[in-house]
Amino acid sequence: MTAERSAIVTGSTSGIGLAIAEALARSGHDVMLNGLGKAEDVEAVRAEMADKYGVEVLFSGADMSRPDAIAEMITTAEQAFGKVDILVNNAGIQYVAPIEEFPPEKWDQILSINLSASFHAISHVLPGMKQRNFGRIVQIASAHALVASPFKSAYVAAKHGIAGLTKTVALEGAEFGVTANAVCPGYVLTPLVEKQIPEQAKARGISEEAVIRDVLLAAQPTKRFVTVEEVAALVLFLCSDEAASITGATIPIDGGWTCH
Ligand code: NAD
Repeated sequence: MTAERSAIVTGSTSGIGLAIAEALARSGHDVMLNGLGKAEDVEAVRAEMADKYGVEVLFSGADMSRPDAIAEMITTAEQAFGKVDILVNNAGIQYVAPIEEFPPEKWDQILSINLSASFHAISHVLPGMKQRNFGRIVQIASAHALVASPFKSAYVAAKHGIAGLTKTVALEGAEFGVTANAVCPGYVLTPLVEKQIPEQAKARGISEEAVIRDVLLAAQPTKRFVTVEEVAALVLFLCSDEAASITGATIPIDGGWTCH
């Protein structure tokens, strides 16, 4: 039996995306997972989620830097689930370096995965959502969609771009029951952040402990990492019927980072 609503969560083999996919499956949505990872690890996650929550869980290995692969992933989901009600654009990468040392190919890669992929995915799901008068598009942006930090030029540019794209989609979908919102987490301890701790240490010439204390959590008044479960709970609410009037919003979930 297929669930009433179905979702695609990009970049859901790890971190925040995995927690969002799990929350959607737990609350009865069919889910298409996506992301990188070893085939047997991904299959184990997929099978366990389907078994545990009794929903259909599929996996697409589509590379979010490839528009043709994104289109194929969405066609596959639409065929398998009959429709796609929810799109969570979450896949993202980071690279930390001063602008004058920032490799141009890293700039292009971050813009394509963190920004353009979202446009391509939205352009494919929107016609069906508008036709059915229901759709939920959630962009996992970042506090870096609202403020900047040094050494993250491509990431900050892409995330600010996501905020603009979200507002445009919100306006275009408003009369068709389609909402679009950007969730803006502060620091969440996922592989993406774990990887940048040594990079930040190198760029700033300080120890890794100092990066956690004086760079990452210095920005977050709560002095603790946001959890993936907290982000997933917010996304789940934005996907609900009750969130129909929340659209075009950039919503911080950052322990107070962007309020000062
Ligand atoms: P993560 O590294 O744990 O997960 C990233 C996911 O994206 C993985 O599933 C990975 O396989 C996938 N991915 C990467 N490149 C891909 C590609 N080319 N095609 C398909 N999938 C690809 O990182 P995370 O921290 O969970 O990040 C998820 C999102 O949350 C990102 O957009 C990130 O910018 C955003 N975010 C993270 C934090 C944080 O502190 N961790 C804060 C704010 C926003």
